[in-house]
Amino acid sequence: MKYDVVVVGAGPAGAVASKYAAKNGARTLLIEEHASIGSPVQCTGLISTAALAECEIGEGSFVLARMKGAFVYAPDGEELTVRGKGIKAYVIDRKMFDRALIERSLDEGVEILLKTRFTDIHGDKISVISSGERKDIQADIIIGADGIQSSVGRAVGLPRCEKFLSGIQFEAPYAASDPGSVEIFTGNNIAPGFFAWAVPFGDMARIGLAKNPDSLPVQHYLEKLLEHPVVASRYRGSRTEHVVGGIPLGPPDRTVKENVMLLGDAAGQVKPTSGGGVYMGAVCAKIAGEVAARAARKEARLEEYEKRWRSAAGRELAIGMRIHKSLGKLSDENLNEFIAFLNKPEIRDCITEYGDMDHPSVLLQKLISRGDKVQLIKLLGVAFKTLF
Ligand SMILES: Cc1cc2nc3c(=O)[nH]c(=O)nc-3n(C[C@H](O)[C@H](O)[C@H](O)COP(=O)(O)OP(=O)(O)OC[C@H]3O[C@@H](n4cnc5c(N)ncnc54)[C@H](O)[C@@H]3O)c2cc1C
Repeated sequence: MKYDVVVVGAGPAGAVASKYAAKNGARTLLIEEHASIGSPVQCTGLISTAALAECEIGEGSFVLARMKGAFVYAPDGEELTVRGKGIKAYVIDRKMFDRALIERSLDEGVEILLKTRFTDIHGDKISVISSGERKDIQADIIIGADGIQSSVGRAVGLPRCEKFLSGIQFEAPYAASDPGSVEIFTGNNIAPGFFAWAVPFGDMARIGLAKNPDSLPVQHYLEKLLEHPVVASRYRGSRTEHVVGGIPLGPPDRTVKENVMLLGDAAGQVKPTSGGGVYMGAVCAKIAGEVAARAARKEARLEEYEKRWRSAAGRELAIGMRIHKSLGKLSDENLNEFIAFLNKPEIRDCITEYGDMDHPSVLLQKLISRGDKVQLIKLLGVAFKTLF
C-alpha cells in the first residue's frame, strides 16, 4: 500500500487534516486503532460556535444543547454570572460529531482503515497491526493525530508536552437552574490547579473536573465536588458514561521531524485556560493537511507547518499557559478575591462584551487597556507583568 499522506488517529484533528490533505490533491489514508469512530469518548463536548465553523460543519443532530453563559463559583460560594449576547457554545455528542467529521473526509476521497494501530515507523514506511495482522504501509508524509499518548511522536523521538492534567467526568440527571449556562467550580479542595464543571444538556449534565497531576487521585476530588452545595442540590444520583483522561498543555518545542508532523492533542494544541482541544486542533489541522499534500509533491517543507500553526495559535496558547499557571498557584483566598474582582459590574460588562472562550487574550488585553493591569498583577502574580 502506498499513500502520499497517512494520518494516524481519527479524532477531530485527524479527520480535518485528512480532509485537507485529500482536498489538496494527496492520496490520503486515515488509520484508527478502534473498531468505530469516536469511541471511547474522553470529552465534555463543550465547543465554541467558532470551533464548529473551524471544523467546517454546520449545526447537526450531534448538538445536544446551546450555551449562552456561565456561572462561576468561587471557593467561598460567591457566584459570578456571565451572560453572552447570543449562543457562545454547543454541548455536543462527541461520538456523533467525530463521525460527521469523518463523513466529510470520506466525501473528499480519504480512505480509512479501522482496527488499525500504528506501531512503528522506518523512513517512509509505517508498521501497523490491522485487524490482528502486521502490515507495512508506505507514506511520504505521516501526520500523528493520535492523541495525548502519541505513539507517532514517541516513535520519532519528538518531545512531549509541558504538562498533563488529570480529568474525570460522568453523566447524570441534573436539575440545572439555567439549562443554557455552564457551571464552573473553583477551589483547591475540588480541582487544584484547574476547575470543575457541570455542563447541562436536557435534564442531564456532564459533571467532572480536571486538576494538576501532583495532587490526590481524581476520584477524591470528584467526591468533594459532589458535596459542593450547588452540585449537591442539583445532582440527582446515578452515574453513567464515566470518563477518565488526561489533558496535554503546553506544546513541545518541535512538532515536526523528518517526514512526520504532530497535530492536535499529540502536539499540545489545547487551550490551557479551558482544556478544550477541538478548536485549536481544527485550526492547526487545516494547515497540516494542506502542507502535507504539498510536501508529498515536494512543493513544501514540513517546517512550514510548524511555522504557520505557531503563528496562528502559538501566541494564544502561550498567553493561555501563563494565565493557567498564575491561576493554578492561587490559594482559595486569592481565588475568592479574583472572582470578586471579576464580579464588579464594569468588569462583568467587559466579560460579556469581549469574553471569548477560544481567545482569552482578547479579554485580558481589554482589561489591561481599561487600566486594570496593576490590579490583575496584584491578584494573579508577576507572570502578568510581561504578558503584553
Ligand atoms: C475529561 C475531558 C474533558 C474534555 N472536554 C473538552 C471539551 O469540552 N471541549 C474540547 O474542545 N475539548 C475537550 N477535551 C479535550 C478533547 O477531548 C481533545 O483535545 C480532543 O479530542 C483532541 O482531538 P485529537 O483529534 O487531537 O485527539 P483524539 O480525539 O484523542 O483522537 C486521537 C485518535 O487517535 C487514535 N489513536 C491513538 N493511538 C493510535 C495508534 N497508535 N494507531 C491508530 N490510532 C490511534 C485514538 O483512538 C483516537 O481516535 C476534554 C478532554 C478530557 C480528558
